Amino acid sequence: MSVVSNAKLLEKYLSLEQHGAVQVEYVWIDGFNNLRSKTKTVTKVPQSAAELSEWNYDGSSTGQAEGHDSDVLIQPVALFNDPFRGGDNKFVLCETFNPDGTPHKSNYRNACKKIMDAHADSKPWFGLEQEYMFMDPQTEKPYGWPKLGYPEPQGKYYCGVGAGKIFGRDIIEAHYRACLYAGIKISGINAEVSASQFEFQVGPCLGIEGGDHLWAARYLLERVAEDFGIAVTIHPKPIKGDWNGAGCHTNFSTEEMRQEGGIVAIESAIKKMAKRHMEHIAVYGEDNDQRLTGRHETGHIETFNYGVANRGASIRIPRQVGKEGKGYLEDRRPASNIDPYRVTGIIVESTFWPEN
Ligand code: ADP
Ligand code: MN
Ligand code: MN
Ligand code: MN
Repeated sequence: MSVVSNAKLLEKYLSLEQHGAVQVEYVWIDGFNNLRSKTKTVTKVPQSAAELSEWNYDGSSTGQAEGHDSDVLIQPVALFNDPFRGGDNKFVLCETFNPDGTPHKSNYRNACKKIMDAHADSKPWFGLEQEYMFMDPQTEKPYGWPKLGYPEPQGKYYCGVGAGKIFGRDIIEAHYRACLYAGIKISGINAEVSASQFEFQVGPCLGIEGGDHLWAARYLLERVAEDFGIAVTIHPKPIKGDWNGAGCHTNFSTEEMRQEGGIVAIESAIKKMAKRHMEHIAVYGEDNDQRLTGRHETGHIETFNYGVANRGASIRIPRQVGKEGKGYLEDRRPASNIDPYRVTGIIVESTFWPEN
């Protein structure tokens, strides 16, 4: 039975000659904040996404269109090496459009790109920390958890070393290499506080690249875990009770913040973000109220606060940044299931919000 891919057998076919044909996997975001993809053969190796033609799919099967008028157009925007097929094969992130050429309402990249272009001079950098949990699709419990009851309470799992503390190291290792091969700016990985919970980070990424690289890394995570027969959840509170939720801390800086005395610009951005707290929360992920309780290293969803080295704050200024008086800020509010285009977009928008 081949529910899980048979890696050894597949290898034989993947080593067959392709005769110059290149396989390009078109990847897009559906109407449920999930990824979809399908493949097209092209005749020359694309050097950029712009060289690839527009395509379409049936939006009535992805929560994005009615049956009678179901075509959704996809436009390639960010190109990566395909670690699964190898060789010259690629995968490409796409934006979605309605038949009339307007961005689909689930396409948040389009508006984000406009904001990033408008503030390109400020050279905005993002570092996104994606927390997630592996799930066993057979039991629908976190991967490695006992069939009955719970594993030992959290405490020994964060950056854990050794059997009984880490469930799925092979998967996170495979994902890390797959990201490097693809050309994703993955900056690190670590095991998280809850059992079977992990994190990867992308960054620093310039402007729109933050969202692009996060989605590309999520795509590879889903695909790698699929090979191992394991599912991934990015729900912000996958397990109720005394188990840490999952976030997507968003680290941000502009060129001004990175230069001498940049702390002034950091504090000015934080003050503007504070005024728009609820507007930020509105795009910081579904069910984030289950996570931002003021416990488990979070600030409460209804209050805004910030501080140096404070992991219970909405926004943290890392200790090193406080000391050096320049660097970046960490917005700890975004949930693990964010669309990063919405989050990076509003952070830049608020940072350059006119004073009042
Ligand atoms: P934490 O200590 O909160 O766990 P991590 O090390 O997991 O932080 O993630 C920090 C992220 O911030 C990394 O992706 C890193 O590349 C990114 N980063 C570092 N410097 C900057 C900067 N000046 N601007 C934006 N992001 C940055
Ligand atoms: Mn981290
Ligand atoms: Mn973390
Ligand atoms: Mn963090």
